[in-house]
Amino acid sequence: MTPPLCDSNPTLQHLAAAAELRLFLDYDGTLAEFAPTPDDIFPDPAVASLIGRLAGLPRTQVAITSGRRLSHVQALVPVPGILLAGTYGIELRWPDGTETQRVDWSVVRPVLDRLKPRWSALLEDQQGFYLEDKGWSLALHARFADEATAQEVLRTANQLADAVLLDAPNGQFRLLGGHKFLEIGPSLANKGRTIEFLTQGDRWPDALQVYIGDDDKDEEAFAVIKAQGGFAIVVAAADRASLADCRLPSPAVVRQFLQQLAEKRALIPAS
Ligand SMILES: [Mg+2]
Repeated sequence: MTPPLCDSNPTLQHLAAAAELRLFLDYDGTLAEFAPTPDDIFPDPAVASLIGRLAGLPRTQVAITSGRRLSHVQALVPVPGILLAGTYGIELRWPDGTETQRVDWSVVRPVLDRLKPRWSALLEDQQGFYLEDKGWSLALHARFADEATAQEVLRTANQLADAVLLDAPNGQFRLLGGHKFLEIGPSLANKGRTIEFLTQGDRWPDALQVYIGDDDKDEEAFAVIKAQGGFAIVVAAADRASLADCRLPSPAVVRQFLQQLAEKRALIPAS
């Protein structure tokens, strides 16, 4: 399905009026434009202040769910009292500041350490590629490579990863694809499974859950959010197939939308 543009008034009203509201927000491409490389950290004080404002609203919870490592998410959104999910939810920082790693490092790291030198060697004489080591996963970005080279290198990278996974514990890893992108990480590096994990045994079983995100990793979360009766918003400049209910065209419009949501929701008396 191709979701229509979010009709701001009815959508805002629906979200603002929820007795309990839980917002799951992706970061790159959703709250902020993409950084030149994924290791660049340029915090935007306006984003942090917006998130702080949302988190301070009555009966409202905010979670940031990012593919970036947790330490980066923390640097980008230094807001106390919210949930931060890094590496697609492998690393969690709870609102009280405690942290949980959902996978055993000693299982994950040896496999990544076997693959990393092979991917590095593959990229040695190539232009426009970037190998990101997030600790819990390895990501190969080809955003600045030409299309044909990107396809070819990513195909070989995929084969190298498959070969390493033959000796890895069964079912513990997954390859995440995307446009000019390949990543290997734990199977739990899945935003959909993260939403399931975060909402099990929920203290707000009737909360309206809203997820805003821009890519195929967010689509995995949209599926879970929709199955749980929630509302999904995709961030995309043009029409495209998505499980989301509606579309916002850019991170700037998302920030505007959330600002208006904060204003509207602040006016609704606590019931
Ligand atoms: Mg994103």
